[in-house]
Amino acid sequence: MSTAEYLVALFSDASQSRAQILDAVRHTRDDVPDRGSSFFIHLSELCPVACLHCMYSSDLNRKTAKDSLSPAELEATIDFINSSRSEKLNITGGGEPFVKFPSILRLLERVDVPRVEIVSAGHWGRSPLRARQLLERMDEALGRNPHKPDVLLRLSIDRYHIEAPRPVRLEYYGNIARAWQQLKPAFDLGFRSIQPDRGSVDRALAAQIGAELQAVDDWNSRILLPDGASLPITFNVFRLSGKAAELRDDLLDGTLTIREYYAPFETGPQRLTLATTVNDAIRGTYAASPGAAVTLNSDGTFWIFAGTAPDRRLLFDGQTFDEAMAHFFADPITHLLVDEGIWELAGLVASLDPATHDAAVAKNDVASLVEDLLAPDDVRLAVTLLAAQRMLRDGKADIDERAAVSADLAAAVGAPDLLTACTAAIAGSRA
Ligand code: SF4
Repeated sequence: MSTAEYLVALFSDASQSRAQILDAVRHTRDDVPDRGSSFFIHLSELCPVACLHCMYSSDLNRKTAKDSLSPAELEATIDFINSSRSEKLNITGGGEPFVKFPSILRLLERVDVPRVEIVSAGHWGRSPLRARQLLERMDEALGRNPHKPDVLLRLSIDRYHIEAPRPVRLEYYGNIARAWQQLKPAFDLGFRSIQPDRGSVDRALAAQIGAELQAVDDWNSRILLPDGASLPITFNVFRLSGKAAELRDDLLDGTLTIREYYAPFETGPQRLTLATTVNDAIRGTYAASPGAAVTLNSDGTFWIFAGTAPDRRLLFDGQTFDEAMAHFFADPITHLLVDEGIWELAGLVASLDPATHDAAVAKNDVASLVEDLLAPDDVRLAVTLLAAQRMLRDGKADIDERAAVSADLAAAVGAPDLLTACTAAIAGSRA
């Protein structure tokens, strides 16, 4: 069979062909991460606030059969987090973590990581008493943790939270800030917002709590309280994913693109770990880590953040960290993302399937970019071939000669213009 005929045959069943290639290509690198960097855990897909810009389209309606971890699953997950030796745990995303407040307390009691960040909408600050009660319980839980991580509670504040169907009013944020000031718990308080709201929402918040605003850099400000306490506020890009996709296009005015926003951190090797900046955004002293950023969703699935093709996600069932990394790094696509970064992937998809590329990049959301770029089966197959070609060329992989596809695959990845051939094969298979 000629290489052209082989490619046509491959793309006739793209997902089976990709599985065969994953079986046949064996990486030879010895620098697979043996530890984590940032670990993101989503405790629930539900949220009572239901913002109109929510990237998760979250509200109180269940969208999946499994919307949270059971207590036993949470204990096993904490063991996994601890064994990952991650530098930071982010309790965030998917929905509102405070919907699962006992799980937050359990994580605060047990996790063994240097830093923890909890992101919440702060809707629970409706009354000063309730705000104080929850902060007290968090402080007590943290007091029981022998590892004493540095913890930051970060409240999301922007126009959409304040104007949501069940709004988080400015005074709720004020109630939490005042309760934090009075209680002086062993964790810090901060905020996060979106770039278009810089200079408005932060100013209103400062006025609400009798504080001053101080600019730090392009992404960060500080809210200075009269007693000298400093509350960081970070401005992230505005994303047009989830429910925000239904909002007006001009909402991207006043925000950087993700390519611009993360550019200062796209240096050197281990680009994949730069994804850890997504929820840190942005410490002044960011340094790339040799670890892998892991996201574990409330349905128990997990993957390397911005480093795993959507069909390679795992369901957590007690795997060790090394077993999980071995699974993820059995995919040439993960190697491409680690070695060359998400923009290299975006460039390939722009050639293979411009419509998929444009729709993915238009969302301006680094959390969904890899998944969206690699959503079509045939694009995933093409990128697998191209990534395998680079690994073989660079001596980072070999082909298992026992694999049924080995001879044809070796010929295909040896093709001089594989990108053009794959682009034609995708067009041909869709015609
Ligand atoms: S508070 Fe956060 S999770 Fe909830 S709807 Fe708003 S953006 Fe989504």
